[in-house]
Amino acid sequence: MKHTKLPIQKVKNIALVAHDNRKQDLIEWARFNKPVLQNHNIFATGTTGRLLEEVLEMRITRFQSGPLGGDQQIGSHITEGKIDFLIFFWDPLEPQPHDPDVKALLRIALVWNIPTACNRSTADFLISSILMDRTYTRLVQDFSDYHNRKV
Ligand code: PGA
Repeated sequence: MKHTKLPIQKVKNIALVAHDNRKQDLIEWARFNKPVLQNHNIFATGTTGRLLEEVLEMRITRFQSGPLGGDQQIGSHITEGKIDFLIFFWDPLEPQPHDPDVKALLRIALVWNIPTACNRSTADFLISSILMDRTYTRLVQDFSDYHNRKV
């Protein structure tokens, strides 16, 4: 399979999202990892971002609240290469009004080979990786065959 190489810079553009039942978990995780997170650019959906700003004491780019389009905004930023890291604590036990958006965000993160953590242990492994303070070459499928397909 042909690939395109896209860099994830040393300073990463990290999106954080948590559904209501998972917000406490994410906030505790962020508090513990504050010194690392402060070295990166942080993006978040509206309510998650408001809570994170208090904990991280740094500027966060806040999108709309998830159910109002925030997940889609993050997906669009991933597609444009403006977000390259995703911590998404979604709720596996409760349906969300924006379930299609949740699925779409997880799908687009996969399409663009974005490091993604959906639970605390994966987030721990990601954030403690030696790659956190290095440039990383992200391989993304070369979509030229798709663009040139016969329709
Ligand atoms: P919120 O959105 O941070 O605005 O609560 C999260 C989500 O449900 O996607």
